[in-house]
Amino acid sequence: MMVENIVCFDIGGTFIKFGLINRDGHLVYKDKVPTPKSNIQKLLPELLAEKIKKLQNDFLIAGIGISSCGLVNHETGEILFSNNIPDYSGMKLGEILFNLFKLPVSVENDVKSACIGEMWKGAIQGKKDVVFLTLGTGIGSTIIIDGKIVSGSRYLAGELGHTVIINNGRSCGCGRRGCFERYASTSALVSDFIDEKNKNSEVIKKISGEEILALVEEGDSIATAVYKNFINYISIGLSNIVHLLNPEAIIIGGGIAEQGDRFIQDINSEIKKETMPIYHQETLVFPSILGNDAGLYGACYLTLKKLNYLHV
Ligand SMILES: [Zn+2]
Repeated sequence: MMVENIVCFDIGGTFIKFGLINRDGHLVYKDKVPTPKSNIQKLLPELLAEKIKKLQNDFLIAGIGISSCGLVNHETGEILFSNNIPDYSGMKLGEILFNLFKLPVSVENDVKSACIGEMWKGAIQGKKDVVFLTLGTGIGSTIIIDGKIVSGSRYLAGELGHTVIINNGRSCGCGRRGCFERYASTSALVSDFIDEKNKNSEVIKKISGEEILALVEEGDSIATAVYKNFINYISIGLSNIVHLLNPEAIIIGGGIAEQGDRFIQDINSEIKKETMPIYHQETLVFPSILGNDAGLYGACYLTLKKLNYLHV
């Protein structure tokens, strides 16, 4: 008998990652394509449909799972709002794909999907009170209480990136000043590093967070100073969460979190300085395990759940 599979997509502003995960949770195939740059309402569903049809030729497909950037109503499968992809807001993606394929479709926000993926197959298995963050251009986050994702009354809950950590600080795209993500995202690390180098008359135009962490390992003094501040900013934000929610674990994803143990260890020690001793535990912060595939696993899990293949 052929094994049933879920076709999963992770839709981002630059790439659409897709893959096939079987009923047992094994990723059997993955690939990616660039996200269409215009005419999204027509081209995006066409692109997804083309990939699904192609996979249907070779595999038994039981459902479709979508992890998407933007604000998502997971009950209706609608993209409520996206500022990453022009004209994407309002797309009834779940309905469109269901009408084309008559298969169960789940649609969820990408950070929430990644968090669910980590709960199912990654770093948070068996944990019930968890905070999940991804460090990148901004900070994406999801809060899990008693095993359930906190969605809020209008799917807006869990935006830790826009909690303020510095009074009257740097201005943020959200309209506030001093937001956590303006200090503790990978982009903030990169721009702080470039600014400091420029002050020392060294012109650097482009560098990645991972490359800065490598410079810290090599003992570069500017990289080390910027990195120390960065760890402190992250820890201030996370310590607010620790005092508020007393989580079992905080999982950090994004390229720099997968760079090595030191980054996560440094955050763990810094959080101890920022929190009351009664909150201290041996290890609180862990790196994500699934990395870029977490969203695909989460999308698969939610579709399997819709199919009643899971009883958790
Ligand atoms: Zn903000």
